[in-house]
Amino acid sequence: MKDISETDLQNNLPLSNVQGSKRPVIVGNTQVGGETLTIMAGPCTVESREQVFAIAKAVKDAGATILRGGVFKPLTFPYGDPLLLADAGSDGEDLPRTHILSKKEVLERAESRFVYFAEAGKSVGLPIVSEPTFADAIDLMEPYVDMYQVGYRSMFNMDLLYRLCHTSKPVLLKRHAGESIRSLLGVVEHFYARGKTNIVVCERGVAVPHTHNTASRAILDIQAIVALNEYAPTIPVIADPSHSTFKRSYVCAMSRAAIAGGADGLLIDVHPTPEVAWVDPLQALNFEAFNTLMKDVRSIAPAVGRTL
Ligand code: PEP
Ligand code: MN
Repeated sequence: MKDISETDLQNNLPLSNVQGSKRPVIVGNTQVGGETLTIMAGPCTVESREQVFAIAKAVKDAGATILRGGVFKPLTFPYGDPLLLADAGSDGEDLPRTHILSKKEVLERAESRFVYFAEAGKSVGLPIVSEPTFADAIDLMEPYVDMYQVGYRSMFNMDLLYRLCHTSKPVLLKRHAGESIRSLLGVVEHFYARGKTNIVVCERGVAVPHTHNTASRAILDIQAIVALNEYAPTIPVIADPSHSTFKRSYVCAMSRAAIAGGADGLLIDVHPTPEVAWVDPLQALNFEAFNTLMKDVRSIAPAVGRTL
């Protein structure tokens, strides 16, 4: 991985390497990068109307400021897409887990979930963020979401990135686990150079040849938060301890560390019964654990000049 050089700063990153205070990014009724920390919380996967309404209320009560949820899931394997499961309450039937949905079917099945996901956000006054895993998903999502997430696998999907330049809604850009800060800021610069500046970056962990725990997916790179605040101090940066550690019992401590290290917020998977979550059951927090996390973060916030 290449470090950022002086030449990069001058020639390749003139728009993102700007010194100055944070430029908050507006997301619905809130903003990322202001004095108040941003907590994005919600299910890995939007599973049903009841599930997402219950989670919306729980995370809002605990103090979250944005509701997250996946509908299009970037799956490691082609089988078992959550969109194969019929919407609870619909007349549809579950399809076998080895069925391969066409893009048209994926879009059709996704829409009803965005309808009630957006309603859940509105019911508690939280804006919503979700991930388009392919460019055509954006047109479907546009009426429903307040922010688009670029998942770590999509950091270099230029088709997706170009399309996102044509929406006024903000973008949450995750760093791929094998990519440098230099590459991440390169993508930010692609957006900025096209006039799209409402970008929040997300540290989501780095892959290492081995970790101290086989269940860990990646190591949350707190130093990346410090480096991003050095090279691109105007750009809000949040941390994702859920998808980096992939381990429930590490999420709270790494959240505290990320906030103490200068993150503007967190992204946390929350589920009423994490053990049976459709996707990422190992790392989601239940409501009680999320409440504890929020209490801990609230007590750390003043030490770094933040509120929650
Ligand atoms: C997610 O946030 O649900 C997700 C799949 O994230 P990542 O791209 O970090 O794996
Ligand atoms: Mn997840």
